[in-house]
Amino acid sequence: MTVTTHSLPMILAEVEVVRVQRLSPTFVRVELGSPALADFGVDGHLYDQRIKLVFPGESGRVPSFEGADESWYTSWLDIPAEERGHMRTYTVRDVVGEGTDTRLVVDLVLHLDDGATGPGSRWAAAARPGDRLVVVAPRRGEFFGGIEFVPGGAQRLLLVADETAVPAVAAILEQLPAGARGTAFLEVPVTEDVLDLDAPVGMEVVWLPRDGAPLGEQLHAAVVAHLGAPPDRPEVADDEIDPNVWETPTFSSSGEGIDDADTPHGDLYAWIAGESGVVTGLRRHLVRDLGIDRGQVAFMGYWRRGVAMRS
Ligand SMILES: Cc1cc2nc3c(=O)[nH]c(=O)nc-3n(C[C@H](O)[C@H](O)[C@H](O)COP(=O)(O)OP(=O)(O)OC[C@H]3O[C@@H](n4cnc5c(N)ncnc54)[C@H](O)[C@@H]3O)c2cc1C
Repeated sequence: MTVTTHSLPMILAEVEVVRVQRLSPTFVRVELGSPALADFGVDGHLYDQRIKLVFPGESGRVPSFEGADESWYTSWLDIPAEERGHMRTYTVRDVVGEGTDTRLVVDLVLHLDDGATGPGSRWAAAARPGDRLVVVAPRRGEFFGGIEFVPGGAQRLLLVADETAVPAVAAILEQLPAGARGTAFLEVPVTEDVLDLDAPVGMEVVWLPRDGAPLGEQLHAAVVAHLGAPPDRPEVADDEIDPNVWETPTFSSSGEGIDDADTPHGDLYAWIAGESGVVTGLRRHLVRDLGIDRGQVAFMGYWRRGVAMRS
């Protein structure tokens, strides 16, 4: 049964998997359909638009949001864990079809690196057409938020991602104006995860397959070399890493302010997302060693090694 709740300013609907495609060892692409998605939309480009997916819990049943009102989230948290399912954050990689045949395309990462897995990765590994889950997504004409890519008038772009943020960078690259200039550094688990992406000619795309190297090592080195910083990777102790690190020009998870100082990279806008420890290390290097103002950079922890990203 498709459940949609028009009293809410967002889409909160049960959707069905209509297509599954294994893009590579790490990426599984799913197309999610529901007549409720006819109302999907944002004002402008989607870029890195985030959505929530609610995967079925241990009972195997999809939680019902029938009759949900603005207290839907707290009401959902009141449901017993095995019935409630698991909410996780993903990116709209693409939108295909239209009207009641609108489908959201989502690329989900399978966690192969260190054997750690979670409900999202597990669900993706077994996804089949006909599977059902719940999506929380923007409704056309209503404010939803969740787009962090805001380059303003920057002349030079720097996009930095591990595999969990490759879908976002891929979508951003496709939607950039033809004259955009800059570099995207994309670290993925293995060489076979290198995907064909559409990008403006002025955007260099550099893939960095780990192929067994430590998480973030190549990404960090490539980014700091690109910016001309000293190569040493700053030590970041575990207890200094906020699993939900989120430092953008408009929001700071650590409560920092923005100063408008001129910096040596004043024409740059950088968008950096991935594992929170890697993102924190890059942040230290860029902000401390290069003096880049945080008003020019979005640093976003998309996941944290060893931590389940409960919503
Ligand atoms: C704004 C935003 C957009 C995102 N977009 C996407 C997207 O489009 N596609 C996507 O796949 N992910 C995306 N993510 C990341 C995703 O939400 C997390 O990876 C999430 O932890 C996955 O949930 P899970 O249930 O699989 O694992 P969890 O239950 O959260 O974690 C269980 C275990 O798995 C480990 N783990 C989590 N992620 C990974 C990983 N990638 N590799 C290795 N181990 C891991 C954790 O460290 C933990 O030990 C996004 C996150 C944010 C904040």
